[in-house]
Amino acid sequence: MGEGSNVVYGIPCLHCIKKYIGQTSQLMKNRITGHKSDTKNYPQRCALATHSNAEDQKMVYDDITILARSNNTEKNTFLEMFDIFKEKNLINKKQSPEILVTSTRM
Ligand SMILES: [Zn+2]
Repeated sequence: MGEGSNVVYGIPCLHCIKKYIGQTSQLMKNRITGHKSDTKNYPQRCALATHSNAEDQKMVYDDITILARSNNTEKNTFLEMFDIFKEKNLINKKQSPEILVTSTRM
């Protein structure tokens, strides 16, 4: 991993076939901690947190897939990847994908 590189990752749901796709430049484990924190404290903050709080839904943080890496932090890169790795069952809304870019590097 080079400096400033970003990772696009997918997190499957334990109870349904949906998957959440996000992007981060944080350490993956830090990003996961953030997701868990959001799920607990800010259920409306992102699609993942909202989904996790739905009945019987649970994200499988042990089975995260790295879909792509990029040195480009621009939104367009994410949108491009979002299309490339288009999943039929995304938790994210296609029209408003979560942009999860932070200043820390992976
Ligand atoms: Zn689910």
